[in-house]
Amino acid sequence: MLSIKRVATVVSNFQKEEEAGVAAPPSGGCGRNCLKSCCIQEAKLPLYAFKKVEKVGGKDLPLCKEQPVTFLDSLILGEWEDRMQRGLFRYDVTTCETKVIPGEYGFIAQLNEGRHLKKRPTEFQVDKVLQPFDESKFNFTKVGQEEILFQFEASSDGEVQFFPNVPIDVENSPSVVAINVSPIEYGHVLLIPRIFECLPQRIDHASFLLALHMAVEAGNPYFRLGYNSLGAFATINHLHFQAYYLAVPFPIEKAPTKKIAKLNLGVKISKLLNYPIRGLVFEGSHSLEDLANTVSDACICLQRNNIPYNVLISDCGRQVFLIPQCYAEKQALGEVSAELLDTQVNPAVWEISGHMVLKRRKDYDEASEANAWRLLAEVSLSEERFQEVCSLIFQAMTSSELEVKCQYLEEAGSSPSPTMVAGSQECLVLQ
Ligand SMILES: [Zn+2]
Repeated sequence: MLSIKRVATVVSNFQKEEEAGVAAPPSGGCGRNCLKSCCIQEAKLPLYAFKKVEKVGGKDLPLCKEQPVTFLDSLILGEWEDRMQRGLFRYDVTTCETKVIPGEYGFIAQLNEGRHLKKRPTEFQVDKVLQPFDESKFNFTKVGQEEILFQFEASSDGEVQFFPNVPIDVENSPSVVAINVSPIEYGHVLLIPRIFECLPQRIDHASFLLALHMAVEAGNPYFRLGYNSLGAFATINHLHFQAYYLAVPFPIEKAPTKKIAKLNLGVKISKLLNYPIRGLVFEGSHSLEDLANTVSDACICLQRNNIPYNVLISDCGRQVFLIPQCYAEKQALGEVSAELLDTQVNPAVWEISGHMVLKRRKDYDEASEANAWRLLAEVSLSEERFQEVCSLIFQAMTSSELEVKCQYLEEAGSSPSPTMVAGSQECLVLQ
């Protein structure tokens, strides 16, 4: 699983043609077997209906670490391998060099020499986190049906159900799981909530809950979902989460944390310690929905304040990392060192989590924990700014339904250091 290569940054096989303005043949639909009205009428896809677990940590939620391959796991990987056999990926993901960098954290380096050869088109402004959906730009309704693996929705009767061939009900706007045709790892897929609603890239409560359900349902600690906002290296302004399998812990998952708040709902909020990027960790709620709502509130707050961010869903949906970042802004202001710019690494959710996708042989050969740390430190907000952003997030929670009494600001001025800080100044959150 470690040796997978990413070359292109195109996520769908039709993206490039779309950009080049290739005209579509008129007969039998548009000729691409796409998801639009030209081709969708007769289309059928598998449907996976997940069981809506309510309780996290209760007996409803299957144990994450010690269970056999779940049905969803085998469905994703089976369908994914089928698409590989059919040659739908832009390159062979199995030929890439990958290594775990020696050190305390185990950063993972991957070499993608071809990636920088295909320049990513600028499809939207990178300085605005919220931008309207633009039908004229590439979006996932333009992909080929063969890129869609299955429909994904909540089961109506509370049990997992699978139907191999179900018509696509456009009116009901199903959520779908599709391949990323430029995978960075084994089983790299996209979760596209309510695809036909053509939502722009922005988190909402229902979509985030869906992503959490997928993590729970996969039940595999090596399957994580990630999200990049606009301005934090999302490349397509059509709502989507990414996910893939990587059979090692991510460095961010191993970083120590310090609890800074506990909500009445049971959601514990911590901050990362001794990690190059400042960020928040949300976990442990009585219900999956409460966890989803809490994280969504925080994301929506960042979106409203135009603060780019990344999200990692770990530990089978039990743990969510929220990382506000400012790399694109620093780039625009000319504040990133030439040395780092030369690497052309785009610090999106995977890089931030410690899976470094490198484009030059030199950077791969010289990869070290210190180098990874230096890059990621550039992505982080300053301590001062991070505290401001945390204030905004906590205010947003306060204004929605919670009253927060919190002492987290007292630590302004401290910065990630190699020493682990013990203790827990807890916030009291009152309803
Ligand atoms: Zn079509």
